[in-house]
Amino acid sequence: MNEKQDVAENEQLASQDDAGITRRSMLRGLGAVAAVGPATAAAAAVAEDASTPPTIPPAADLVDEHFDSASGWHFGSQAIHCGEQNGYQVTPISQDKCAPGYQRPGNLNNPTVAALLRKVMEMEGAEAAVGGPCGMGIISQTYLALLSPGDRLVAHRCNYDWVMALFRDYLPSWGVEVAFVDLTDPNNLAKSLRAHPAKIVHWEPYVNPTMEVLDTSALVRIAKETGATVILDNTWLTPYLLQPFRLGADLVIHSVTKYMGGHGNAMGGVVSGTKELVAKVERAQYWLGGLLRPMEAFQVTQGVKTLPLRMRQHCRSAQLLAEFLQSHPAVARVRYGGLPAWNRNAGSGSPKGFGGMLGVEWKDDSVHQRLGRYVKLILNATSLGDPVTRITARRKEKPRGIPARFTRVSVGLEEPEDLITDLKQAIERCG
Ligand code: PLP
Repeated sequence: MNEKQDVAENEQLASQDDAGITRRSMLRGLGAVAAVGPATAAAAAVAEDASTPPTIPPAADLVDEHFDSASGWHFGSQAIHCGEQNGYQVTPISQDKCAPGYQRPGNLNNPTVAALLRKVMEMEGAEAAVGGPCGMGIISQTYLALLSPGDRLVAHRCNYDWVMALFRDYLPSWGVEVAFVDLTDPNNLAKSLRAHPAKIVHWEPYVNPTMEVLDTSALVRIAKETGATVILDNTWLTPYLLQPFRLGADLVIHSVTKYMGGHGNAMGGVVSGTKELVAKVERAQYWLGGLLRPMEAFQVTQGVKTLPLRMRQHCRSAQLLAEFLQSHPAVARVRYGGLPAWNRNAGSGSPKGFGGMLGVEWKDDSVHQRLGRYVKLILNATSLGDPVTRITARRKEKPRGIPARFTRVSVGLEEPEDLITDLKQAIERCG
């Protein structure tokens, strides 16, 4: 298609737009995907067949209406098509360490790993991405690559346990100053940064395991005003529910071991963001090693294709469980982002949902301590983001805001009615 035809066709499609989705921008965006695979073919087919334009349902009927897509296709379509090697719907597993280039660093050289990295880039809206062997692998590589002795890092007072260990025990021993601040009030960040500017500010928008919902857009604004780099761990929400680059973040981290892969069968980590920052992490892989392997990337890539479907079900089931637990006499309080009684932060950059993670504060010690013994369908085990539902009893940690008699629940994909039945009988047996 020459440029003139292209323009004419775009005009025609734009004028047929009746659903708030500009067909013109869709076609423009497709040019951007063209370099990366079969999305191109599907897109081109739609573009060429303009005589019978597809009917676009009104946005309210679209289940993945949340997504502001750069290309115009909805998130669910992007998750399936984008990133795959040209000509494949399933990019094959390439185990060749040298083809087309050596795999360390810059694992875009490996087509299987590249398929996943490109999907993450497309879904998050990032310029570049690099993978690691697990979430913690890519998190430590990122901080080792970006921080030097004398730098200051500010983090929320609560993060995933081993991120806490990295920040609290290791980075300070290498000369990095780390300040833990209660970011549930954005004013605390402003005060901290005004008193001592920091190089990086880190937080999880939906916090593990306290379920605090941070006001990410306000926090980004404050951090950026002082020139700090913002790094967010978006593992729990995924780009389906929150796209931190749209709020101004500089780097976004994922443990793809969790919801992105979604099947509990593969581990990996990805950091995405600007070319400049990601290149620094890639560079550190020359000496750190720690790569995302093709087999793992392959498995996660298949999981990503159903991310929207799974996240919708996680959100629905977690909401039902949260409401059931909230009305149960054994429960003091339920912490779930979807409960207005818990989440009072409906800021402008608020996530579109809260996935499968919720927390329960029990009235009684015995339920807290014994529940894990009596669940039948639910697993009493750590980890999260899989099809199985898991519960983990946590100890109180006051400095992190983890309350007494607290159980973290990763709501899986079983029928929510069965989960409620299982919890009911297990709570009863705790007496
Ligand atoms: N970030 C968050 C928010 C997590 O919940 C986890 C693990 O639970 C990680 C990072 C670490 O991921 P991985 O287990 O892949 O190292």
